[in-house]
Amino acid sequence: MELLKQRIREVGIVLSDEVLKLDAILNHAVDPVLTTAMGREFARLFREEQVTKILTIESSGIPIAFAAAQELGVPLVFARRKKPLNTDTETYSERVPSFTKGFVTDIMVSKEFLDEADRVLLIDDLIANGAAARGLIRIIRRSGASLVGVGIAVEKMFQPGGRTIRDTGVRVESLVRIASLANGEVQFE
Ligand code: 5GP
Repeated sequence: MELLKQRIREVGIVLSDEVLKLDAILNHAVDPVLTTAMGREFARLFREEQVTKILTIESSGIPIAFAAAQELGVPLVFARRKKPLNTDTETYSERVPSFTKGFVTDIMVSKEFLDEADRVLLIDDLIANGAAARGLIRIIRRSGASLVGVGIAVEKMFQPGGRTIRDTGVRVESLVRIASLANGEVQFE
């Protein structure tokens, strides 16, 4: 997606060989024109899949997932992050390591928002090692819903997340693929 690449070139800050700061468009501020375009692109990619619901995780996934939900005309559900992993039977909870924060977080979705009739499109802002996406996939599986695919705005190809999920047979589409962040430079694939 050219527009997203262009905006990453303009505002992306390479923090290390591993981390690209995208606060200006994804993680702290929202560009409505770009976000709407990303939603449209996710919708185009998954339009034939009879999606009934979009699932993302708070907070940075919400704007792009909302844009996709609007385009596909389906509801959006976002997993919430909470501190202790409790034994509440009314929620699906999973524990996932956080890539950027360096600690483990618990994520949860209330059982009332996912069921076996759902065909779920999972959307997130970035994928690194894939822990967040795999946690959300476990929640979808536990609910009995079908996973139609995963849509990611920015995939870092030098980290294994996207590949490990594709290897399980799940369709993963990313709008922009980054081959490397070495030498302070964003190299697109
Ligand atoms: P994963 O679980 O795939 O290792 O990491 C995914 C999550 O960590 C994303 O939802 C994103 O919030 C954050 N993340 C991972 N790598 C980066 C990065 O390079 N830049 C930013 N801004 N966030 C990242």
